[in-house]
Amino acid sequence: MTTNNEPRTTNHELYDIVIIGGGPAGFTAGIYTARARMKTLLFESLSVMGQAAMTETIENYPGVEKASGFGLVESFKKQAESFGLKTLQDTVHSLCPCKEGGRDAWKVAADSGEYKALSVIVASGASPKKLGIPGESEFLGKGVSYCATCDGPFFRAKTVVVIGGGDTAVEEALFLTKFAAKVILIHRKDRLRAAKVIQERAFACEKLSFIMDSVVLAIKGSASVSSVDIRNLRTGEVSSIECSGVFVFVGWSPNTGLLEDIVSKDPSGAVLVDGRMMSSSPGIFAAGDCTSKILHQVVTACGDGAVAAYAAGQYVDELKGVAYK
Ligand SMILES: Cc1cc2nc3c(=O)[nH]c(=O)nc-3n(C[C@H](O)[C@H](O)[C@H](O)COP(=O)(O)OP(=O)(O)OC[C@H]3O[C@@H](n4cnc5c(N)ncnc54)[C@H](O)[C@@H]3O)c2cc1C
Repeated sequence: MTTNNEPRTTNHELYDIVIIGGGPAGFTAGIYTARARMKTLLFESLSVMGQAAMTETIENYPGVEKASGFGLVESFKKQAESFGLKTLQDTVHSLCPCKEGGRDAWKVAADSGEYKALSVIVASGASPKKLGIPGESEFLGKGVSYCATCDGPFFRAKTVVVIGGGDTAVEEALFLTKFAAKVILIHRKDRLRAAKVIQERAFACEKLSFIMDSVVLAIKGSASVSSVDIRNLRTGEVSSIECSGVFVFVGWSPNTGLLEDIVSKDPSGAVLVDGRMMSSSPGIFAAGDCTSKILHQVVTACGDGAVAAYAAGQYVDELKGVAYK
């Protein structure tokens, strides 16, 4: 792989479908397109960490009682490759429209070269916005989490800290009170940004307490998280709070930079798709956490991938004028 953004070679082979992303959405799409005998190439980046792959334990994927995120994605990959899916460990950095034999097609520029496909499924996931404080990456999966639905049950009867003040932070803090003995929400402003109705529920919850006007300076522990240091922005006072978990909800960034000016996105940068997972650009489909939706989970990413693959297959057949008798 090259490290700059200049593609090295042009591959003249035309793929039916290129899939960008080797996570649950991408490999599920790959299982469907490979089984349908569509000529498919899947790119998985080694430089962009997939969320599923960074998840220590997944216990809410139906049929699998407990698995590591990495193990689960490996099993998706193995299944897809058993049907003939071709995968390439490479990072895609841009797409542009082109013509191929008079048909609309897409040029896919990756580190290793340029590739062409009649359709593209973007399944590049999203990355949690980070605080950038000491201990945050060190304790990821060892007390630091960005997903209460996923990791809340690991903190039964413990004290956890939630960082953020928007709808997601407050709703997730409420959700965590189902498991934790005590949930402490820390917000840098003097009031929450969450909707009033959510705030009312939060203020009525006995297990939930609030520390306002404060920022977390560092996450501390040894094998796992044991405390956070915070600073009160009004008084400047620094103090420490004992806790086993730290949930950070300061936003998500969909990995959609490679689609700059190509598709419509919501204000967060997530791709807007229709019921067939097609974007505003014909031939470009999107699936999983890079799309605009309410529940970001492995099971929903897989569902999106299956729909996108089926719809992309129909799109390619129409382009080729394939008639079913
Ligand atoms: C800490 C944590 C814990 C979680 N726990 C759970 C849980 O218990 N249960 C659950 O259901 N969900 C859980 N989630 C959410 C779940 O991981 C995601 O919803 C799911 O992985 C989304 O799948 P995806 O395929 O859309 O994206 P991802 O899993 O993020 O995969 C995206 C893929 O795209 C690749 N990629 C990105 N950009 C490029 C590019 N330019 N070129 C090539 N490849 C690219 C990445 O390398 C990666 O392989 C958790 C998330 C986190 C962060």
